[in-house]
Amino acid sequence: MRSITGWRFFVYIAVPLVMATLGAINLSVDLLRHVEVGSNAAEHQRNKAVLTQTLENAEADLSRLVTENAHWDEAVKKTNTMSDEAWFDQTWASSQSIGSSYDTVAVVDLKSSKILWARSSKGQALQMPYLLGSTPISSLADMLNLETRRRGVVSGFLETSDGRVVMAMAPIYSTATAPTGNGKVLYLAKNLNAVWSQNLQSKLLVGGIRLEPSTSQSAPSLALQGPDGQVTMSLVWDDRVLAGLVMASSWNKMVVTLGFLILVMIGIGYVCWKLLQQLVEDESKAQHRALHDHLTGLPNRHSLTQHMQHLRDQKIPYSVAFADLDGFKEVNDSYGHEIGDRLIYMIANGIRELSQDASIASRLGGDEFVVLFKGPNAQDSAKTFASNIIAMLKQPFDIDGRLASVGASIGIAECDGLQDVSEVLRRSDIAMYKAKGKGKNCFCVFDSAFDFERNENLEIASELKSILASGNLDIAFQPVVSARTTEITGLEALARWPSTSSRRVAADKFIAVAENSGLIDALGELILDKACFAANSWPDIRLAVNISAVQLNNPKFVARSLAVLEKHGINPNRVEFEITETSLIHDTERAKQVFKTLQKVGIKVALDDFGTGFSSIGYLRTFQFDRIKIDKSIIGKVMSSASELAVVQGTLLVARGLSADVTAEGIENAEQASVLRLAGCTELQGYLYHKPLSTAEVTETLRRNKIALVPRTKVVA
Ligand code: C2E
Ligand code: MG
Ligand code: MG
Repeated sequence: MRSITGWRFFVYIAVPLVMATLGAINLSVDLLRHVEVGSNAAEHQRNKAVLTQTLENAEADLSRLVTENAHWDEAVKKTNTMSDEAWFDQTWASSQSIGSSYDTVAVVDLKSSKILWARSSKGQALQMPYLLGSTPISSLADMLNLETRRRGVVSGFLETSDGRVVMAMAPIYSTATAPTGNGKVLYLAKNLNAVWSQNLQSKLLVGGIRLEPSTSQSAPSLALQGPDGQVTMSLVWDDRVLAGLVMASSWNKMVVTLGFLILVMIGIGYVCWKLLQQLVEDESKAQHRALHDHLTGLPNRHSLTQHMQHLRDQKIPYSVAFADLDGFKEVNDSYGHEIGDRLIYMIANGIRELSQDASIASRLGGDEFVVLFKGPNAQDSAKTFASNIIAMLKQPFDIDGRLASVGASIGIAECDGLQDVSEVLRRSDIAMYKAKGKGKNCFCVFDSAFDFERNENLEIASELKSILASGNLDIAFQPVVSARTTEITGLEALARWPSTSSRRVAADKFIAVAENSGLIDALGELILDKACFAANSWPDIRLAVNISAVQLNNPKFVARSLAVLEKHGINPNRVEFEITETSLIHDTERAKQVFKTLQKVGIKVALDDFGTGFSSIGYLRTFQFDRIKIDKSIIGKVMSSASELAVVQGTLLVARGLSADVTAEGIENAEQASVLRLAGCTELQGYLYHKPLSTAEVTETLRRNKIALVPRTKVVA
């Protein structure tokens, strides 16, 4: 089961979960990468824009400052003479201006290209190259001249001997002078050093700001131009500072989220594993329930037939023992279904123990069990099992102090690997019924003759239906004579298969078929009807009619019998019902009740075939029969054994003591007649006196014997 769970878990849960997790991870990483690329581009744009703006502002601020200071009458006056150095220091090199708005200030004479006055925040002596780097002053002057015509200021980024600067230069002029001024220019420069880039970095939140030579290939960068328009340097910075921070945090969050997702997936996987385990367990329980009997836990019919089919498919020969309990219905009826169920459970355990070498031991339902054996000795094993189960059931079961006793009729059938499952079961079923017919509590091995018999029985049953419909049934009557005088004292009606039929069927045969096919009530009534019809024309002597024990189960039996007697005007006191002792043991209570009712209305009850069944004295006392008919099989025993004779004599004494008459049947010779007469039999019946006769023969015999027409009556105690 675990492997099934593992397999299903892997295919239906683990793989999809892992795929979903990997998919989610892949999607998240892709998304984050996409966002990263986007935010990097956005940051680059933003950095480029703010840096461009900042540098333009720095250049513009310096240009404005230099213009404001150069376009000044006072500055023109002072630079004309250049004599008031204190004014220059105070005005342009005060501590508020130098080192803050600019780092270098100088007044330069354009014509001579000389520095007339200069100050730097570092305070060192200044040379022209220091101010303008590699840019020649002449070109600057040209530019300035050119520019002054337009805006009066030049500015740009320069590489000086002391470092990189942003500078602005404007001619000093006033309203009194020409726009070109007095030939002097004011120069302001601001150092672009590490402090500057640091400030810029923290102000603009742009990382890695630095200046590099114009040849630098670093990216991203901005090309900075000198006053002559030539690229003098590059401003380089690092993108991905902000985006990097954001992305780092996003990546962290994503790792945490994915970790959580993986945990959730593991959780889901675990729950699914548990659910799947439960599902597989439930499924296997349901499967077990579908294939097993809930009461005994044995495999059920479905299981058995599956197993049989499998053996048949493999062409493996096997034998089945089909056991049906005898007397289980009585236990159920007497003690109730709960005790019945417990009995079945106990018997199932016994079967389980006795069938350990069986291939399968199953319960078909009710009180039916089938045990299957395979292999070369299958039939022997089935027979041994059958004997063992019969032996086991000999001991009554003690259920809460109640003793329940049952037997088993077992049918054994073989499959040589070719027969259908249903055919094998049918054969075992027929063999089981054969065992029941043989007196129950025994086993019977299927023989193909059973099929012939079964078909014959079906044909008899079918013909019996026609007979019942037409009423075309013959009745023979066998006279019973007085043991003392041999005068006819009664007539026993014996059913005869119609002589018009193409087949000959013995009475006990078609009576048994009628019992097994549900026709016995109708047949019994027809026999009684015909017997009464015939007896009506005869003197008032006893009329004995055989009754099947099955008829006693019909609640209307007594009423319908009386109705028939009434129809033919037959006095119930004249009638005697014969019933065999073996058939009575199944429902003694019911039989006792029916007999009492019959005896109340005057119909006598005779125990037929005494000696073939239990023949116990207690049995005689239980039923209080009016007559006992000793079976013809006893006659032989009595003749050959003194002890048998003594037993019969003793029994007869008891019977006589219970006021029952005794008839010996099957008397074929005078010797038998004399022994039985001496043993105490009051009446005799047999071929020695009369064979069963037709109605006409009876009439003739009665006439010949001049029967005294005095009815025999007997007071029932
Ligand atoms: P049973 O009631 O014991 O009937 C006696 C049987 O013994 C009859 O056989 C009869 O023909 C036979 N018999 C009589 N005398 C002798 C004799 O001296 N020697 C030998 N060998 N046999 C003798 P039958 O008519 O074949 O009936 C057999 C059984 O069938 C009857 O036994 C009875 O149990 C049953 N049966 C017959 N007719 C009816 C019927 O109308 N209703 C019912 N329910 N059963 C019947
Ligand atoms: Mg009889
Ligand atoms: Mg008999």
